[in-house]
Amino acid sequence: MILSVKDLVFAYNGTDILKKIDLAVEPGQLLAILGPNGAGKTTLLKCIGNIHCPAAGTIQVEDRNILKMSPDKVALSIGYVAQHSETTRLTVFDAVLMGRKPYIKWHVASHDLQVVEEVLMQLDLSKLSLRYLDELSGGELQKVAIARALVQEPRLLLLDEPTSALDLRNQISILSIVREIVDTRQIGAVMTMHDLNSALRYADRYCFLRNGSIYAECDRNTISSDIIEDVYGLPVSVHNIDNCPVIIPQQPL
Ligand code: ATP
Repeated sequence: MILSVKDLVFAYNGTDILKKIDLAVEPGQLLAILGPNGAGKTTLLKCIGNIHCPAAGTIQVEDRNILKMSPDKVALSIGYVAQHSETTRLTVFDAVLMGRKPYIKWHVASHDLQVVEEVLMQLDLSKLSLRYLDELSGGELQKVAIARALVQEPRLLLLDEPTSALDLRNQISILSIVREIVDTRQIGAVMTMHDLNSALRYADRYCFLRNGSIYAECDRNTISSDIIEDVYGLPVSVHNIDNCPVIIPQQPL
């Protein structure tokens, strides 16, 4: 098991936001956290990434309690890609290299540089490697944040709306790369998303949050229009195209 979350409770200022969440991710699995605005998706991801401290419950990554781990140790296990990343006067190369920090003892090793170069190439960012972050577009910046998490070589990758700023080609490219890394390295990944059809295409399992609780967990075979209608309050139909479910909203008359 890569990730095990049990009875997770989180509150902001005494208001419960996450209520008794249970989740599990196996090696080679990509889990999509779905649900309407304000359902608690980002808060859940931040709890798993040890950015928020839950009021109750346990979070284990490969049988280790991440709530008791130092930030350096967490960074060796978990790569977290935030919804919005900050721009600083750093080059793309240096920003991505910072993802290797948990591995660097005294000096940057040639292996660290090699890992960075490979990921920059994989994400088609090599041509931007000497550009400063504050000179990038929103989509380019999002790809840099993903590159930085990938060079960490984490066992668990957490992605908060990883394609929100990307054009269609880059959406497909990034989700395909995440899928390939999850499959080949047998890591686990959890991503939050609003684009249901991309989630259905690339993730193995879908966890629907509603008002801070898990309303339903399903896969391609068990997804239904009822679940989506209940969670989003919108009539939809589910069609099968190229062996993948596709959600089509039904326009109200
Ligand atoms: P979205 O899809 O809009 O990004 P989400 O499902 O990721 O939403 P969260 O960002 O996790 O939702 O927010 C869950 C709830 O917690 C919302 O009601 C939000 O208003 C509230 N919330 C988020 N951050 C804070 C904060 N810092 N202080 C108080 N309440 C917060």
